[in-house]
Amino acid sequence: KVVTRFAPSPTGYLHIGGARTALFNWLYARHHGGTFLLRIEDTDRARSTDEAVAAIFDGLEWLGLLGDEPAVFQFARTPRHADVAHQMLAQGHAYKCFATPEELAELREQQRAAKLPMRYDGRWRDRDPQEAPEGAPYVIRLKAPREGETAIEDAVQGRVVVQNAELDDMILLRSDGTPTYMLAVVVDDHDMGVTHVIRGDDHLNNAFRQLCIYRAMGWEEPVYGHIPLIHGADGAKLSKRHGALGVDAYRDEMGFLPEAVVNYLLRLGWGHGDEEIISRERAIELFDIGGVGRSPSRFDFKKLENLNGHYLREADDARLAALVAPRVATRMGIALPDGAAALLTAAMPSLKPRAKTLNEIAEGAEFLFKNYPLDFDEKASALLDDSARALLARTADALAAAPVWTVEAIEEKIRHVAEDAGLGLGKIAQPLRAALTGRTVSPGIFDVLFLLGREESLSRLNGVVN
Ligand code: GLU
Repeated sequence: KVVTRFAPSPTGYLHIGGARTALFNWLYARHHGGTFLLRIEDTDRARSTDEAVAAIFDGLEWLGLLGDEPAVFQFARTPRHADVAHQMLAQGHAYKCFATPEELAELREQQRAAKLPMRYDGRWRDRDPQEAPEGAPYVIRLKAPREGETAIEDAVQGRVVVQNAELDDMILLRSDGTPTYMLAVVVDDHDMGVTHVIRGDDHLNNAFRQLCIYRAMGWEEPVYGHIPLIHGADGAKLSKRHGALGVDAYRDEMGFLPEAVVNYLLRLGWGHGDEEIISRERAIELFDIGGVGRSPSRFDFKKLENLNGHYLREADDARLAALVAPRVATRMGIALPDGAAALLTAAMPSLKPRAKTLNEIAEGAEFLFKNYPLDFDEKASALLDDSARALLARTADALAAAPVWTVEAIEEKIRHVAEDAGLGLGKIAQPLRAALTGRTVSPGIFDVLFLLGREESLSRLNGVVN
């Protein structure tokens, strides 16, 4: 049975690259009818924070990628990690190293001077611990193989080989009795029954060392899949400017829908033919780790925005209204009136067709909640000259006489005014739009009138005419 896991360190926000790693693990487990687990790697006590843990849960929940079982917190398992180190010691797969910090600094200095790779030289590997001074502090080191090579059949990278001579005897347990990260990861993955380790390829080098621990303990080795990191659109390492932000920024600041982010992250490094729009169900059906490419993918905001536009058009209008309302309120710096959600829901079909983000919808929705006098932007004021005002006065009269306030009735009246004046519809729609919204861009003008209602529409028109 397949068991995957996502193992973030809670030292910052849930990074967009981390979210992709979680997604690939989640999909791999779902595709194979397995289990997806979450482990919080909080052993770095100085840098781990409760806020970061909360941000990880929050972001994963938003994306629908929470673990199938309660999360495992790594730090709580410290005694178990130490146990394993002592077990390895007892079995001769590890040894006590009494080298002092000064000694090791000197070794590093010599290696630096000789331009040799810096590496522990195994000076206590075959020495009798009795030779150490009574009560001297020690670390426990892995007795790593020195001859031959270690190979990984990586599900993404293919076969990757390292010469064992290049692996030094890494520390498993520090002199204060705390386990190292390398040990903790392996013990936890083993104990959690993890069968597939899918993670960023910045961990590929760790995998060789981690395998040594599996082999020393006689544990079944996992399948590794090291996925290339995400780069910026220009090919450089992902930075803040490129989108190396927390998942919450994609939701809160940029106004993306979770299904769009998931679809985008899926396509970032994995593909199925030309399919761009891939639902979660379809992704579960199709996803396989072998389909992940070996070269770094480039983060492309345009693509994400286009996908988001697609998902906005598909989304339920009431749901969008609930997401947009607080954004409108913040943008305008007002509390929205009662009934705002209903009004936004009714307006959504005309607000969302061209929008790429929730922010754009919110921007487009502002006119619904404005009070007269409107703040006309420059282009809108320029449109409202004397002849436009005269035209708007006639339009207002015609609209006041509309028998009912429906989009059809409104359209009929306005077409009539245009015909009478011998003008094209656009000639009347633009000043109308300016008068009603203060802008030159808005949803269709009949929709604007309809949504504002007769009373509000006439009062805005009269405000301009008089
Ligand atoms: N905690 C590590 C990280 O956040 C991941 C370790 C792993 O996946 O094995 O980079």
